[in-house]
Amino acid sequence: MCGIIGYLGPRNATSIILNGLRRLEYRGYDSAGIAILSNDGIHVTRAVGKLSNLESRLQQGGDSPPFATRDAPHSMGIGHTRWATHGGVTEHNAHPHLNDAGTIAVIQNGIIENFIELKGELQAEGIRFRSETDTEVIPHLVDLYMKAGMPFVRAAFAAIVRLQGSNAVVMMSAQEPDKLIAARLGNAGGIVIGINPDETFVASDIPGILDYTRNVIFLEDGEVAIAQAGRVSVYRLDGAPVSKQRHVIAWDPVSAEKGEYRHFMQKEIFEQARAVTDTLRGRVNFETGEVTLESLEAGVKNAEKFPARIHTVACGTSKHAGLIGKFLIERIARVPVEVDYGSEYRYRDPLIEPGLAVLGITQSGETADTLAAMSIGKARGAQVWAIVNAIGSQAERMATGVIHMRAGPEIGVCSTKTFLTSIVDQYLLACALAQRANVQTFERSNADPFSLARDLAHLPGLIGQTLKPDPIYEVLANYFHDRRHFLFLGRGINYPIALEGALKLKEISYIHAEGYPAGEMKHGPIALIDETMPVICVAVQDGVYEKMISQIEQVKARGGIVIAIATEGDGFIRQKADYVINVPAAPELLTPVLTAIPMQRLAYEMAVRLGCDVDQPRNLAKSVTVE
Ligand code: GLU
Repeated sequence: MCGIIGYLGPRNATSIILNGLRRLEYRGYDSAGIAILSNDGIHVTRAVGKLSNLESRLQQGGDSPPFATRDAPHSMGIGHTRWATHGGVTEHNAHPHLNDAGTIAVIQNGIIENFIELKGELQAEGIRFRSETDTEVIPHLVDLYMKAGMPFVRAAFAAIVRLQGSNAVVMMSAQEPDKLIAARLGNAGGIVIGINPDETFVASDIPGILDYTRNVIFLEDGEVAIAQAGRVSVYRLDGAPVSKQRHVIAWDPVSAEKGEYRHFMQKEIFEQARAVTDTLRGRVNFETGEVTLESLEAGVKNAEKFPARIHTVACGTSKHAGLIGKFLIERIARVPVEVDYGSEYRYRDPLIEPGLAVLGITQSGETADTLAAMSIGKARGAQVWAIVNAIGSQAERMATGVIHMRAGPEIGVCSTKTFLTSIVDQYLLACALAQRANVQTFERSNADPFSLARDLAHLPGLIGQTLKPDPIYEVLANYFHDRRHFLFLGRGINYPIALEGALKLKEISYIHAEGYPAGEMKHGPIALIDETMPVICVAVQDGVYEKMISQIEQVKARGGIVIAIATEGDGFIRQKADYVINVPAAPELLTPVLTAIPMQRLAYEMAVRLGCDVDQPRNLAKSVTVE
């Protein structure tokens, strides 16, 4: 993930920013840039590739003297490592971006969902864009508002309010040389602000500023900070001031890494908008909808290699992701998919015929059962693909085509962000296959694979909304933590989410849980329902909504307790269910990415309430390298 650093204080801003960006390098990036305020205005230097390229540009003088002089008491600047979502990897697309006069500099992480609309509006005002990024709308918008008479801070607020999606934004203006403005919108990009008595640091991640300070505040979704040297004021988007709690980051590396979170699992749940943004980077052209999966191009472009069928092999959470992928690939690309446990596939003498692709899904890339299943495919001549998180793993080395999850390190044993990112990888795969094969989709969705891919631009924002603080999880954990059995029901594309919900609960809170396709209830599990049984029903407004409502009625008729995961604004379901957890409305094929989140949050809350070891549940290992 790309990085953001800002500095305001007596030390040399350039070296602090470069050092901070270096500390964030592990997140990945494709280009970098820096803007420094000096006596004669803002100087920007940018370079494609590694930070060393940016450094040599600065050493050569670049556009920005490395130690820009300034008579003012403070040095000020912002720096960015970009990982492209909009527009190619070029110097002119690297951040910071400026307004025409070069007086406002902006860096941003994330996706501005409404950038096409904003860009159109600005172009109609005669503004010419110098990059293909979504980011560039921001300095022009601020400029427009300043030209209309607003001072910088007000203009910045006015521009920030117009941005849709999950974003972190930092900006500065030559006209207000003592202020940096930082905003966090949604959950795709964090903002941490470090404060020393006479200096202030802004960063996307804690490691970027740990060399300089341990006193920090974290911005929440919808907060904007006005940072000055040694002090910070925080406001909500409507201008209301917020009083922020200061945190002192512990010195031990594990606590420092956890930052504001209690457990890695919690951190990883809340990182998911950002993880999914990373999964999408460079893979979707959000203007045309075209999907490019470079590491899999041979398999999707080459007619001989275009799969006639796919066998997905996976274990645990990855198997559930595979079941959702089956739905996506069959629905979008019309390629038949069979999903099996790695541990079963290897012993069932599978039918491997020409045209088959075997797709292994594994977070670690080292899961023994999945690797064994993939190697059967390989030995019998199938092309082998892998969806993996760990780079350079065995699964990756065995496969001829790879799609990385790009979830970043997942420390909690219980998979969360790798589940979401592996669903998104399969959505991308489905769109890529459909686009190459020219499949028109159809039926209920009535959408083509290009507009389905464009829908992905909204996903980080929707995930961010699903992660909003909600007291329901604590309420449910307080009421139900002493139950020994739970039932999870879902249908259609959300049926595997019922399986995943049950698995999460079992794994970390040791409560027995079963996941079922809701239609199967009457064939057995309904016998379990009585007034002690909580039943969690995924009942979002999709193609099987009415069916789910009738399942809920059947549970209620037998005295069961219904906890529904429902679409925000669905008043009807409130009359049917005992408790409702809301997720935002979304295109049907993206709903599992959202409904998975309440399952994770609920399991987490239960485990915390029960005092379980959330990050290292008993008997489980993160990487299952044995059969
Ligand atoms: N959407 C922006 C771009 O493509 C930001 C990328 C980032 O998060 O690094 O330039």
